[in-house]
Amino acid sequence: MARFIFVTGGVVSSLGKGLAAASLASLLQHHGYKVRIRKLDPYLNVDPGTMSPYQHGEVYVTDDGAETDLDLGHYERFTGVISKKSDNITSGKVYQDIIKRERKGEYLGGTVQVIPHVTNEIKKFIDNDLNDEDFIICEIGGTIGDIESLPFIEAIRQFHYENDTEMSMFIHVTLVPYISSSGELKTKPTQHSVKELRSLGIQPNILLCRADREIPKDERDKIALFCNVSKDNVIQAINAPSIYEVPINFMNEGLDKRVLEYFNLDSKKSLDLKMWKNVSEYILKSDGEVNINIVGKYTGLADAYKSLNEALSHGGIFNKVKVKINWIESEDLSLSNLDDKLKNSDGILVPGGFGKRGSEGKILAIKYARENDIPYFGICFGMQLAAIEAVRNLLNINEATSSEFDDSSSSVVGLMTEWAKEDQLEKRKIDSDLGGTMRLGAYDAIVEPESKAFEIYGEKIISERHRHRYEVNNNYRDSLKEKGVIFSAFSPDGLLPEILEIPSHTWFVGVQFHPELKSKPFEPHPLFKSFIGAALKKSKE
Ligand code: GLN
Repeated sequence: MARFIFVTGGVVSSLGKGLAAASLASLLQHHGYKVRIRKLDPYLNVDPGTMSPYQHGEVYVTDDGAETDLDLGHYERFTGVISKKSDNITSGKVYQDIIKRERKGEYLGGTVQVIPHVTNEIKKFIDNDLNDEDFIICEIGGTIGDIESLPFIEAIRQFHYENDTEMSMFIHVTLVPYISSSGELKTKPTQHSVKELRSLGIQPNILLCRADREIPKDERDKIALFCNVSKDNVIQAINAPSIYEVPINFMNEGLDKRVLEYFNLDSKKSLDLKMWKNVSEYILKSDGEVNINIVGKYTGLADAYKSLNEALSHGGIFNKVKVKINWIESEDLSLSNLDDKLKNSDGILVPGGFGKRGSEGKILAIKYARENDIPYFGICFGMQLAAIEAVRNLLNINEATSSEFDDSSSSVVGLMTEWAKEDQLEKRKIDSDLGGTMRLGAYDAIVEPESKAFEIYGEKIISERHRHRYEVNNNYRDSLKEKGVIFSAFSPDGLLPEILEIPSHTWFVGVQFHPELKSKPFEPHPLFKSFIGAALKKSKE
């Protein structure tokens, strides 16, 4: 029987609830239990697919084609459990389903209300589509006290009340700030947040208190007393230098033991965290540094390219080298400053992206990497722009462009109007809805033997996650080949180019998919291993 752990957050957002959920899940796995993690997001978008990553952070894509919250990326990276569509809901999705049913008359004349209709829908999500898991960890987005998260809090309260209460528990993540002027850690915000949670009918069983330093025993005992939580269950979560140290830190603080104790469960096997120790040690031990210049629309929000940053660091872990990532604003690049801005590159990367703004700067950077034999990695948009760059500068078709930017007859990259998905043909039109209509999720690609791609993957059939609306067309395939630019992987029907490469170049690979979504610290993605390896070689030249 599955046990449910609900994780809420208080005081402020960005306390790392997702990392806490993922780290706890990993510890429970190491105790021999099967886990699944889910995210309940209170915002009104149906999914984050149409939201700007510069506001909300990266859109994480699952194998089954859902556009989800970036926390699902942490869940997969920490547990290796493949996330599914059924692991993320939003208020928007709940309301969309309810309103659709209401329009069909399925409520038989009844008044449709937040309680019970919305809360029932949320409860259904919590234990839907399970497969013998021992633990389901549900992270509730937002911060206690937000108006929009109220139905979610009410739903988990009801869930706990209606089922055997010993089968579910509440973990509340809070902040214990340090006030430098008085030299004290303050417990009051935590007390208030728990008071708010209790006023909604939820008594937390464990408090995870984020702090930038040790929380003295006296202060933890004070929190326990005021918040009605046992002393042992007030657990400190001190800032860690790397997110991959969090599982070990939680184990040292006894979080896993407290959870098992609550459910009256024993560990099924002796805890061996070698895997996490190795990852943390590699990060500490890494010797030297490679400079990776990412040319994109600069964003101060580190979360906008979460999986990419992580995947690059995984490549670093594998090659035992520190990866220094520099963001270069593509709009600021011009012929006059290109060399200045890019000459320190051990590797240049153009990541996924959308829209015309900044694209010319990215194309300049790609040309620079190609001509100066600097390892180049193009991801999705970065592959499409590499194709445009090659057509412009190697085939001398100066007006080569993408139909994403202009309606042009010289589109090297065009809108995909149809493609094969399993046994069906997916069709799109220029005016199709934007939400959920891209070529999304896992698709196979067939890799050409004797290519760099094959050398990297060591496999003929690969499966990678996609998120794109446009695609490089095949018209220039032969002429590009004559100039040394080849497509080394295609969709199984041979129609959609999936990988572009330049065999004579040190390392020039563009991929139509997002390999960063599948990389894990203890199982770095082959492309990132290879790219950082090439950058390391370059750094030693
Ligand atoms: N804008 C491009 C497309 O939609 C690339 C998308 C991406 O980089 N994820 O095809």
